Amino acid sequence: MSEPSVFTRILTGEIPSEIIAETENVFAIRDIAPQAPVHLLVIPKTERYRNVVELAAGDPDLLTELVGLANAVAAEHADGDFRLVFNTGAGAGQTVFHVHAHVLAGNLAEGSLG
Ligand code: 5GP
Repeated sequence: MSEPSVFTRILTGEIPSEIIAETENVFAIRDIAPQAPVHLLVIPKTERYRNVVELAAGDPDLLTELVGLANAVAAEHADGDFRLVFNTGAGAGQTVFHVHAHVLAGNLAEGSLG
């Protein structure tokens, strides 16, 4: 068994980070190094899926639940408009291999991909 991911350690309270919202199977936190005025992470409570491709193939309902929580936190913490980013693979900048979505919001209209 490999070590729990940083997000599992946050979920269990081993690493301090406020859980700002959750559903039965998904939770949301603030990113520790924000790249936008609002930068939240939405994360399945299970770490069995390493990226969004595995999640979509393995549990589409869980992916739907994740997108729903992303929409809810974007409405609560910004004006409801948001960018949803899944870095997939180290070459794309993924550093934590426990699938998570970046919810980026606030003054993002300039530029197409940020
Ligand atoms: P990735 O690069 O894998 O797409 O995203 C991982 C994200 O997790 C990064 O944006 C990074 O800032 C964030 N992160 C890493 N460690 C922690 C932590 O201990 N607490 C919080 N809140 N975010 C973290």
